[in-house]
Amino acid sequence: MVMLLPFSRLSMEDKLPMNINRYRGQIALEEISMEGQKKLSSAHVSIVGIGGTGSSAAELFSRIGIGTLTLIDPDVVAESDLHRQVLYSESDVGTPKVDAASNRLRAENGDLTILKFRNRLDESNAERLLLGSDIIYDGTDNFESRDTLNRVAVRTKTPLVMTSAVDYYGQVKAIIPGVTSCLACIGYPEEGENISCSTMGIFPPVLSFVAAFGVNLAVKILLSLPVSGDYYHLDMKSLTVTKITARINERCPVCGSQSH
Ligand SMILES: [Zn+2]
Repeated sequence: MVMLLPFSRLSMEDKLPMNINRYRGQIALEEISMEGQKKLSSAHVSIVGIGGTGSSAAELFSRIGIGTLTLIDPDVVAESDLHRQVLYSESDVGTPKVDAASNRLRAENGDLTILKFRNRLDESNAERLLLGSDIIYDGTDNFESRDTLNRVAVRTKTPLVMTSAVDYYGQVKAIIPGVTSCLACIGYPEEGENISCSTMGIFPPVLSFVAAFGVNLAVKILLSLPVSGDYYHLDMKSLTVTKITARINERCPVCGSQSH
């Protein structure tokens, strides 16, 4: 049976302003509705790393009408990025990613406000670059940046969606300070465990899969829907998604009660 979208739920009283009209397909969803769309349209999402998962996520955030996007990335577009980083075209090679991405995203959605920083995020600049964020999306590709983001998110009490992908596999985890576990709650990887797409290879569709999963978690958080802090392991070889419990560690050096 084909299930029709419940457009009939939109009554005449809900007559939409033009800048909202484009979202009526998602406003028809009960969990979003007009109230939720207003929240999304006034939300500020920061994306750190607009490469593999970050560029797919940026496009989804833009199309669903997030009001303000902050883009942070120090790199320029390389030819070897084009097979997996969906925001960029051949003519963008050599252009800073923040510039190429903002041009593309503005063309997709003229209502979008974009703040762009061609910086490598670190402890010295993180709080300044992420100022005003309602949520942070982690599109970085190394553990050091991820660790910094985790610490900043906990310190500033800003929700964070972490994503990573390599080979045919991806991981996604939401961190809501004070509510869920953080990255450090389960301990840090051993020395030498820091693997990346360039060393291990990457199957491009896994990046869109991970990004869609991460954006879904971010939207849930923005709409105050229930989200756990568990890890989701996405496996495109076996076509499975596995939830791995990640409980708060009271002795966590970053978010635990003994760390304050
Ligand atoms: Zn923790």
